[in-house]
Amino acid sequence: MTVSPSIASAAKSGRVLIIGATGFIGKFVAEASLDSGLPTYVLVRPGPSRPSKSDTIKSLKDRGAIILHGVMSDKPLMEKLLKEHEIEIVISAVGGATILDQITLVEAITSVGTVKRFLPSEFGHDVDRADPVEPGLTMYLEKRKVRRAIEKSGVPYTYICCNSIASWPYYDNKHPSEVVPPLDQFQIYGDGTVKAYFVDGPDIGKFTMKTVDDIRTMNKNVHFRPSSNLYDINGLASLWEKKIGRTLPKVTITENDLLTMAAENRIPESIVASFTHDIFIKGCQTNFPIEGPNDVDIGTLYPEESFRTLDECFNDFLVKVGGKLETDKLAAKNKAAVGVEPMAITATCA
Ligand code: NDP
Repeated sequence: MTVSPSIASAAKSGRVLIIGATGFIGKFVAEASLDSGLPTYVLVRPGPSRPSKSDTIKSLKDRGAIILHGVMSDKPLMEKLLKEHEIEIVISAVGGATILDQITLVEAITSVGTVKRFLPSEFGHDVDRADPVEPGLTMYLEKRKVRRAIEKSGVPYTYICCNSIASWPYYDNKHPSEVVPPLDQFQIYGDGTVKAYFVDGPDIGKFTMKTVDDIRTMNKNVHFRPSSNLYDINGLASLWEKKIGRTLPKVTITENDLLTMAAENRIPESIVASFTHDIFIKGCQTNFPIEGPNDVDIGTLYPEESFRTLDECFNDFLVKVGGKLETDKLAAKNKAAVGVEPMAITATCA
């Protein structure tokens, strides 16, 4: 079916409220909202301010975001803010600890009655399909509860299933793109052949914002599956080895290792281990076709828009490790020199 642009963009001038814009995923979404030219409001919660949080607030404000203060679990406040600022699109990107607080937010959105689209904090897998072990399962059970509350409320929604962020998928780091891929050894999950989709952070923001006023994404799961970014972990390791110009040793992290780390129940590391198991052992990102009545593929919706390739994203990491690689090369050269002329070194040291 072809949908005319006018139908596809029913609420183009909508005012957007983003909750969680100072977080890892929310920052990408807030920046993309500002890029899209929509009036962008950001809810900042009070409390201890980390330098990175203050920097993010300042940079969003400098770019035109309107900063509001409060927490989403304060229903009267949320009702007031939604009404006062005539918010039409609400996007939540809150972290794992406050997922259930979104139920109060749904109640506020329902009572105000003017919000045209709500995107809850999803930004990962299709939580109704994926079935990780604990403690990841508890987070999915909470996300499922939020989904059911939204569906019951009748508020139009979109669930963003963007799969993995473009990075080396460390099993114990919930924000893996903040660190560079390994320079000492690779940890390969299982036999390293189970594939996953990797999406650059700014692309998560950009494509999320394309969905917010598109009638084709209303009450749908939107799946991000860029074919250019489908890799297994062996393929990721080869890609990185080509970039750094050397091969690294590989150690295997078995299914049992991942299950043991998940069972340790350290939060958030064990949650990440349970998702790593679901992705790279069970294949939760690729083991179902996108063909249900509530499923849409982002690539089919916006074929004219390309995703940044993982190859390009790894170039960014290469820039970050540039200095370290040079130091390593120099150290290796010196070591070789020591091997050839040990006596000369002894003499110098003496
Ligand atoms: P973060 O913990 O980095 O950020 C959470 C944000 O929500 C912060 O801005 C925080 O504010 C704000 N917040 C939390 N509770 C409230 C509240 N009650 N009222 C107002 N603001 C609140 O979260 P992540 O970015 O890690 O996670 C966001 C979503 O993305 C989750 O659903 C997660 O599962 C998913 N995710 C997906 C990844 C992927 O690879 N696909 C990777 C990581 C996360 P403050 O700054 O004050 O703390």
